[in-house]
Amino acid sequence: MERKVILEYFLSEQQKMIKSLARRIAEEKILPVRAELDESEEFPWTIMNDLADSDMFRVFIPEEYDGLGGGCLELCLVIEELSRVCAGIAISYAASALGSVTLLEYGSEEQKRKYLPDIASGKKLTAFALTEATAGSDASAIKTTANRENGGYVINGTKQFITNGGEAEIYTVVALTAKERGARGASIFLVEKGASGFSFGKKEKKMGIRASSTRELIFRNCLVPEENMIGREGMGFIMTMKLLDRSRPGVGAQAVGLAQGALEAAVDYARQRIQFGHPIISFQAVQHMLANMAIEVEAARSLVYAVARTVDSRARNFTEESAMAKVFASDVAMRVTTDAVQIFGGAGYMRDYPIEKMMRDAKIIQIYEGTNQVLRDAIAFELRKRKAMRE
Ligand SMILES: Cc1cc2nc3c(=O)[nH]c(=O)nc-3n(C[C@H](O)[C@H](O)[C@H](O)COP(=O)(O)OP(=O)(O)OC[C@H]3O[C@@H](n4cnc5c(N)ncnc54)[C@H](O)[C@@H]3O)c2cc1C
Repeated sequence: MERKVILEYFLSEQQKMIKSLARRIAEEKILPVRAELDESEEFPWTIMNDLADSDMFRVFIPEEYDGLGGGCLELCLVIEELSRVCAGIAISYAASALGSVTLLEYGSEEQKRKYLPDIASGKKLTAFALTEATAGSDASAIKTTANRENGGYVINGTKQFITNGGEAEIYTVVALTAKERGARGASIFLVEKGASGFSFGKKEKKMGIRASSTRELIFRNCLVPEENMIGREGMGFIMTMKLLDRSRPGVGAQAVGLAQGALEAAVDYARQRIQFGHPIISFQAVQHMLANMAIEVEAARSLVYAVARTVDSRARNFTEESAMAKVFASDVAMRVTTDAVQIFGGAGYMRDYPIEKMMRDAKIIQIYEGTNQVLRDAIAFELRKRKAMRE
């Protein structure tokens, strides 16, 4: 089904070109392999190479480091189109952008020159490592330490659930440089695959986004040179919060694309499935489900694009809006994919159709990069602050 353009999103010619190229790659390269990669849980290297050949990793990198100079909106457009076909492959691409944001925002000129051109060309994937077994929603509970020694920092600890773990070449790792300083005690380091004392542990077997890699990172006396610290010592948590504010619209875009793909599949199926002598799309109960799905997808897209544009405007504080885009779009993706399975009936429950995979893929979007409960807390916190300021 070709999506009729309902709303004018005022995309530039370049943005439209990026979006349509991403759609072409998704349909020509991802569609034929998505079921197979979901089943085999194999990392989508061929697709990553196709994306690299089409300059898709350049989209979010500034021109001076061999990028195309796009921002959050351009990145969202690519993630949305890839996720429309496979959210698991899309996240492997998106995680490389996530692993690059701190470097882009806070890296030194030398660090940027060293790492960004290889990220832009797609030669090297990146990953962002914050979560640990005892520190999920409560990121401040991390235990990984980075102690100053021998002209560098020695990292010890284990990171859990890291997207692109084992496949990426460059890891942005949050570790405590001064435990006793609480929120001011963390710093961020670039650690390269192959560094002595850095290895990979358990590879997770997941419910959804199974083509992506989610793995443990193990640091045992891993010495990283001083120049691999990003930004200033002690600013790790502040940089992390800012990074997540910037990346959450991308997670929202993953949800929008996934929901769009499920909506299209449901409309196609409802048109051709005959019961009681009629296509099931002629039944009002089905029509209303489809109408609600379409309303929600478009509303989520509007919010995600608006927040992405706000990020690109270099606004100072968009914590609340960024959380809203992620929460709303991921709740929409969960509802829309669940309803799409319902419209497919028993067939929707079978692996012969892509729809059960879409429902499995949707669930994680409500969980990672801040669970929707924790992000609702963050939105409420901003609202309470605003009320207090009025008083
Ligand atoms: C597939 C996958 C990929 C991931 N990729 C990455 C990655 O690349 N890098 C990375 O650093 N991390 C990554 N993560 C980690 C992810 O961000 C965390 O799983 C997520 O933040 C939730 O943490 P948790 O799993 O420890 O859940 P918990 O924090 O243990 O939460 C469990 C439940 O309690 C609720 N809860 C917790 N605290 C509160 C509260 N204060 N108020 C209300 N409810 C609360 C949560 O909402 C949730 O429902 C990934 C996780 C998965 C599953």
